[in-house]
Amino acid sequence: MQQPDTPSSGVASGGAAPPAPASLCVKCHLHEATLDSRSQRVCSDCFTKFISAKCIKQVGIIGKDIRNPGTGAASQKKKYLLGLSLGVSSSVLVHLLNENVEYQLAKGRNAPFDLVIVHVDSSGLYPSSSSPGSVQETLEGYRKRYPRFEFRLVPLSAVLDLDTVDWRTLILPSSAVTPPENEQQLHALFFDRLSSPTSRADILRLFTRHLLISSARTESCHALLLGHTTTALAELTLAETAKGRGFSLPWQVNDGPVAVVSHSTAVPTEPITTTTTPTSQSSNATTTTTESQIQVYHPLRDLLRKELVIYATELMGTPSLASDLNIMIPNHPSSATQQAAAAVVSHKDLSIEEVMFRYFAEVEENYPSVVANVARTTGKLVRLLGGDSEPATGSHSSCGMCTMPLDEQGDERWRGELGDEDVEDDMTRSSAGRICYGCERSIRG
Ligand SMILES: [Zn+2]
Ligand SMILES: [Zn+2]
Repeated sequence: MQQPDTPSSGVASGGAAPPAPASLCVKCHLHEATLDSRSQRVCSDCFTKFISAKCIKQVGIIGKDIRNPGTGAASQKKKYLLGLSLGVSSSVLVHLLNENVEYQLAKGRNAPFDLVIVHVDSSGLYPSSSSPGSVQETLEGYRKRYPRFEFRLVPLSAVLDLDTVDWRTLILPSSAVTPPENEQQLHALFFDRLSSPTSRADILRLFTRHLLISSARTESCHALLLGHTTTALAELTLAETAKGRGFSLPWQVNDGPVAVVSHSTAVPTEPITTTTTPTSQSSNATTTTTESQIQVYHPLRDLLRKELVIYATELMGTPSLASDLNIMIPNHPSSATQQAAAAVVSHKDLSIEEVMFRYFAEVEENYPSVVANVARTTGKLVRLLGGDSEPATGSHSSCGMCTMPLDEQGDERWRGELGDEDVEDDMTRSSAGRICYGCERSIRG
């Protein structure tokens, strides 16, 4: 499961005689420069501080953003939920937040926030890729290393209980297939109905996001923190654009409030409805309601993935953070789908995400500023509906699967340009719930 560590940057490791000093660190001018950091030769101390500072700066911004305005509750302790994939980025985020808390406590201050860490367990989808209980064991390693934080394991099947997914969107127009109701049917959905690796990866990502948002709300957290690096945000940007979901990028890539939309099949006694869509197949009315919003942040947005790999594999003690926590190192794509199909032979078997992963691994190596530019450009896209303080509501236009605002004209354009004009619009739009072009492609192929 784990790749062997590959020390490649010439960091002297425990006990070995250091190589002859070639140059001094350009930042501190004290220690030997052993690493390249954004075209500068630096020592491992300065590199470590750089990583930490980039993250803590963002955490400070979150703290200011969510201070309850006007309630006098500024001193109320903040509580965050962190989505842990068990990969390098989110693991490093846990580590950096723990360091921040320890630092504050050592100064005699209160811990700046409480942290609940949630891993959504999708290993059931790929039984061959991990032995039973291995996720639980891995998480136990995190619990031991970071006892101040709470760790939770949420099974992917818990998504079936959420009404933030409009399950009608999974009804196929031309068949009697119904939305999944149990774990077996969920499994069948992924392997029988979602035809391509891209569709599977896409729906898995969306379900995971729904579960993290739901957990954050259940736990009354002030914000959801995700471990996306600059590199991951750039990958997401291009992958989502390729899927025809570019319109939703500001909500996915920028920091800030995201609408939480519920789709309830029960008719409410006191209608707080914004839209009521009668379904053609039954007399049930489905009510779509915007209940609230959640703050979503990416505290590692200013760091490259390769920097976190160096941090986790070479700098954080012996054994390294990566080997201590059994983290997979992304020398090549190692997403869940990739594990399932270890012997990939052609691009046809890769999801768009994996193609982007490979692309950016190369770009990151040779042109790191390109990666930063892709993410930064997306960051400038404005949230058109409602603005930052008021996220788009589900009242007239949000996708039942990904919750992102619908861009009806844009969806038409995508459909036309990608040659999908024969899609049965009536079915898509009325009986099966409203979804964006990207989700439609994922679900219906
Ligand atoms: Zn230095
Ligand atoms: Zn969608």
